[in-house]
Amino acid sequence: MGVWGSDGTWNNAGVTNAASFSAMYDLPELWAVRGPGVLPVEALGDGAASDAREERGCLAATRDSARVTLRLVQDAVIVVRGAEIIAAGDYEAAVGAQRGLEKAGLGDPAVGGALRRARRWDGYILPGLVDLHCHGGGGASFPDAVTLEQVIEAVMEHLSHGTTRLIASLVTDSPDILLERTELLATACDREFLEGIHLEGPFLSPQRAGAQDPAKMQAPNAALVQAVAKTARGWFKTMTIAPELPGVAEPLDGPAPPLVEVLAAAGVVPSFGHTDASAEQMGRAVVAADAALVAAGAGFGRVATATHLFNGMRPIHHRDPGPALEAIAQAASGRMVVELIADAVHLAPRTARDVFAAVGPHHVALVTDAMAAAGMPDGTYQLGPAAVTVAGGVARLTDGGSIAGGTAHLIDVVRSAWRASGIPLADAVMAASLVPARVLGRADSFGSLAAGRAADLVLSDSGLRPLEVYAGGIRAISTVRE
Ligand SMILES: [Zn+2]
Repeated sequence: MGVWGSDGTWNNAGVTNAASFSAMYDLPELWAVRGPGVLPVEALGDGAASDAREERGCLAATRDSARVTLRLVQDAVIVVRGAEIIAAGDYEAAVGAQRGLEKAGLGDPAVGGALRRARRWDGYILPGLVDLHCHGGGGASFPDAVTLEQVIEAVMEHLSHGTTRLIASLVTDSPDILLERTELLATACDREFLEGIHLEGPFLSPQRAGAQDPAKMQAPNAALVQAVAKTARGWFKTMTIAPELPGVAEPLDGPAPPLVEVLAAAGVVPSFGHTDASAEQMGRAVVAADAALVAAGAGFGRVATATHLFNGMRPIHHRDPGPALEAIAQAASGRMVVELIADAVHLAPRTARDVFAAVGPHHVALVTDAMAAAGMPDGTYQLGPAAVTVAGGVARLTDGGSIAGGTAHLIDVVRSAWRASGIPLADAVMAASLVPARVLGRADSFGSLAAGRAADLVLSDSGLRPLEVYAGGIRAISTVRE
């Protein structure tokens, strides 16, 4: 990876690993930061949250029972050694625990020293954010990228604003283009710039196309899924499909398994969206996906998602509740995670608030659905085959005017959920870190400030502007680019 220079430019020449990166900044091998932090309650030693047990007894809730909740701790400390967090918790408790260890002759005195020298931070200390749905930023677009540099440009735009783990989203396109882009993005994943690949289409409803090209949509096709999975070398993580399409939830005539089983077997989480489904069709698909993920041995937290709930879906009608209300019910029961673009553009702030209240913050993943214009001025951009015009920060198809992706960074979505929707900060942060990490099956590795996780940290001011970002212990930025 590279580094932001003091002049605000990105430089990736000659910097290839954490050690040399940290050395450039004279980061000590062992360091600590202290201040208001959003931490898992497990890290505080008061046990895992047990609300999973209160949930209606479905399979997913059972798989989900080990989960923890994030909470704002006023005087938190995070201790980092190299690429990893080695301790996190309430400051006084951490100092006490360390003292006890040292008395027993077990403690590492270096850790005690780091705790005593912990740097004070006035704003917030957050886990690095994890975005499950992002098409680009900084002028670069994953569906249009043809070089690794273009992919990295978009990654860095989001990294410099606090998104330390990113899934790159493609849009509906021809199989040839999808395979070509998958190959490029898989290379970026191999080099640790990305956490995986999301395909939005091509098995979607033309009635709810949004910014997706209906002419490039096609019927569910297991061979295409398998070809993408093979090209992706394990990095194909999620796929948006319309649940009502024949062959998604139930097998077509003949021996072929339903698409949700093909996806689960390939390690891909089905994400239901761009859909004109009835509530019943959505429900059947979620249940089938859940069973397929369990059968495939997917880890806890790997449940189906709803692609940007409400956007690109048949709306709720009181005599025809449609897919959104069913997704909310499934999420409330622990079988699903709903993506929300809570940026106050795609959804009214009130809508996001009510969804959090209905399903609980463990079942919401805040996403950006960002496109190339994220972090860029108004103008004309590309989103796969479609031209997009951005005016006043809102991206719309130049032809037709559908909202065409977001222009916010994930931390902006968190801020909007917190400030505009009134979601508690720790809940909004959890929906942008721990929950998406679980959907990826990676919550043991990143997504929370806990011992044993990657040192992914965002140090923000009190208004949630990211001022310092660390990814795997590497200082990615020291001041945000405006
Ligand atoms: Zn999208």
